[in-house]
Amino acid sequence: MIAAELRIAGVPVTVLEKLPERTGESRGLGFTSRTMEVFDQRGILPRFGDIETSDQGHFGGIPVNFGVLEGALQAAKTVPQSTTEAILEGWARELGADIRRGHELLAVDDDGDGVTVTVRGPEGEERLRAEWLVGCDGGRSAVRKAAGFDFPGTAATMEMFLADLRGVELEPRMIGENLPGGMVMVGPLPDGVTRIIVCERGTPPQRRTGPPPFQEVADAWKRLTGVDISHAEPVWVSAFGDATRQVTEYRRGRVILAGDSAHIHLPAGGQGMNASIQDAVNLGWKLAATVTGTAPEGLLDTYHAERHAVGKRLLMNTQAQGLLFLSGAEVQPLRDVLGELVQYEDVSRHLAAMVSGLEITYEVGGGSHPLLGKRLPGLPLRTPDGKAVRSSEALHRGRGVLFDLADNPRLRSRAAPWTDRIDVLTAAPDGPLPSELDGTAALLVRPDGYIAWAAPGAHGDLPMALERWFGPGRA
Ligand SMILES: Cc1cc2nc3c(=O)[nH]c(=O)nc-3n(C[C@H](O)[C@H](O)[C@H](O)COP(=O)(O)OP(=O)(O)OC[C@H]3O[C@@H](n4cnc5c(N)ncnc54)[C@H](O)[C@@H]3O)c2cc1C
Repeated sequence: MIAAELRIAGVPVTVLEKLPERTGESRGLGFTSRTMEVFDQRGILPRFGDIETSDQGHFGGIPVNFGVLEGALQAAKTVPQSTTEAILEGWARELGADIRRGHELLAVDDDGDGVTVTVRGPEGEERLRAEWLVGCDGGRSAVRKAAGFDFPGTAATMEMFLADLRGVELEPRMIGENLPGGMVMVGPLPDGVTRIIVCERGTPPQRRTGPPPFQEVADAWKRLTGVDISHAEPVWVSAFGDATRQVTEYRRGRVILAGDSAHIHLPAGGQGMNASIQDAVNLGWKLAATVTGTAPEGLLDTYHAERHAVGKRLLMNTQAQGLLFLSGAEVQPLRDVLGELVQYEDVSRHLAAMVSGLEITYEVGGGSHPLLGKRLPGLPLRTPDGKAVRSSEALHRGRGVLFDLADNPRLRSRAAPWTDRIDVLTAAPDGPLPSELDGTAALLVRPDGYIAWAAPGAHGDLPMALERWFGPGRA
């Protein structure tokens, strides 16, 4: 995702990936509403084909109706992470990213003017130099370790298993069906594969160098459910834990972290990959503007300011969910209370927005407009020459967009000194808009889809906002 975002802005990118080829394994399944919107804003949603969406979700195993998130695209539940990775890789290659598989990063040297990395590739070791290095190398990030990032938090307290199986018929089980010894989940995957997750309380984390033997998983399953699945054919077996950590800074000098390299947590509510994709979309345009020399002072620092805060809430909500679905009978009263609370629409909306990435509000300068700092929802619009256009289409180029909703020539002329960096779309609402947009005449939207300025209602005028996010206008 970060490679594609940088390429959209014309920045040369090399991706070093230690795996010679994709494994086809899928930890994650599906996208949150916000990721659906992000892919829509880049025009890549059709690449995923017919996506099955659902408004059924949960928080810590307590069912929550995500249909209360009005105006949002619904979450996708069935897109394997391997498909998402393949599609993003193909998109990044099309845009011209130089993706080198079978290249493992070994060492990092940031000398202030650039970063030199030592890489082991098919032809042996080599050194490469770049202006910036972004570590997107997962929870055990070599970049994070080599560049000396602090990664405080709590170690795993238990070990859990995931297995994709053939040749076994199991009734689907939802998260939240607690058993005396722990929790299990069963869900169908494509091609006759069944995914199981086994969380047995009191299983201490192990230092493993490879996947656990399937027999260990089958034994834990038997202890929890009484059912023998040892005859099943394991397609993929994996162990995971509940370690919860976040780096204290998302950038040290010329080294930046995004995704699991910056934050790890219990996989609860299907958020890790989604939050990682959004780290990349937050960072991409800021880093690109820094590389091309148009970034205003401090723009790159907003990546840490904005995404560290989001990551902190991600850790908080996954810990809360873990307590709900991994604990024993002692938390049942709490589950019952929460189960009553989610009947209130406001509570459901709060929890659904929290795990969908829709609650995010970045600091953009204040004012009374209710959507300042929030993501732009999909809006039906019509241009003065009668063409129907959705607001998300205006973001396909990955640039900032000024939505001139009231055909205001004065506003457009004020934006003219920035039109090398932003696009201006004059279009009127073409259908009902969310009530928060009642009376809105103009919106300035950042390349990552967040509203940086609105009229009326933002403190400061349009040129101030443009300068803050895109640098000084042309003379
Ligand atoms: C059981 C489980 C279920 C999950 N379910 C979901 C879900 O439903 N939804 C969701 O959003 N998230 C889910 N997640 C979390 C999600 O899988 C991760 O958050 C996501 O993969 C993070 O993406 P990333 O690109 O940051 O890191 P990774 O996906 O870990 O990718 C890192 C890449 O870096 C490469 N690499 C590592 N070291 C080096 C090196 N030294 N040199 C070169 N390359 C290197 C690796 O080979 C890998 O390809 C789940 C996680 C688990 C464990």
